[in-house]
Amino acid sequence: NLPTVGFIGLGNMGSGMTRNLQKAGFPLVVTDLRPESAAELIAGGALWAESPAQVAALSDLVITMLPTPRHVEAVLHGADGILAGIRDGGTWIDMSTSVPEPAERVRRDFAERGLRILDAPVSGMSIGAATGMLQIFVGGDAADVARLRPVFEAMGDPERILHVGAAGAGYAVKLMINQLWFSHLVATAEVLAIGVKAGVDLGVLRESLVASPANSNFVQNDVLSILDHGDYDEGFAIALACKDLGLSIDLARSVGVPAELSAVVEQIYRRAKAQYGDLAGEMTPVKLYEDVAGV
Ligand code: NAD
Repeated sequence: NLPTVGFIGLGNMGSGMTRNLQKAGFPLVVTDLRPESAAELIAGGALWAESPAQVAALSDLVITMLPTPRHVEAVLHGADGILAGIRDGGTWIDMSTSVPEPAERVRRDFAERGLRILDAPVSGMSIGAATGMLQIFVGGDAADVARLRPVFEAMGDPERILHVGAAGAGYAVKLMINQLWFSHLVATAEVLAIGVKAGVDLGVLRESLVASPANSNFVQNDVLSILDHGDYDEGFAIALACKDLGLSIDLARSVGVPAELSAVVEQIYRRAKAQYGDLAGEMTPVKLYEDVAGV
């Protein structure tokens, strides 16, 4: 008797995540601004809901997988929002890359309703969502995390579902992961462009970096996927990467940590977004350097 999972946001990530929940046997109630995104799920037995409120009313727990904090706010409030449908004591898990404020406001303004609220952002790209091998970083009460583990295991790699702290910690961990990832990308693209312009063969330069203490997952795996397959990861739009960088910098500012490097990386990302468009892949900043290096 598995709980019914409500799911809002069937995009690059949510589509794969819901398919895996369905495969694991969880009854689903879903909605999205784009009804066509649910066709396959409905064919597999999922119920379509007309609004987030209806999703919440028909489910034992509600998951959101939405682009930005603004979208999360929008599906919470109002006549059609989650809060209008969710039962007292119900569970809401936000898996978006977002910030704690919307959840904190719900906890404060609706304290008497006893809602269980967790943040559980993910890594692993749209391919990880499709294959059910996401990494999941959960903030919330230990008892809730334990209770919801089967739900997370349907979407993620059981070895890499981490309870990272109290409510809000998952959001912070996820932003730091992306900040470091984007910084790796820019740092790698920059040194490759300089080396190539200095006359070193690109393949030789990359092999040398892999053999050196400066090796990283980005140098080892992702540079190759870009070079061999021209894959800039269109499953994650650069507009969302820019959103994440902005949220990281806001977080750094709010806790009083200087974030000069993050600010530079953000500028480079914004330049790539302006040049290649909002929907270009998150690794498109590499192209800025390829243009300079002439590769
Ligand atoms: P996406 O833009 O592909 O999908 C978002 C979905 O939400 C869309 O289908 C959209 O129609 C829907 N939506 C927006 N507003 C809505 C509303 N008011 N009601 C109902 N549905 C609404 O985004 P994505 O790539 O799936 O990313 C989702 C979240 O996951 C983001 O926070 C992103 O930063 C994060 N994330 C993405 C990846 C990735 O590789 N794509 C990896 C890790 C984390």
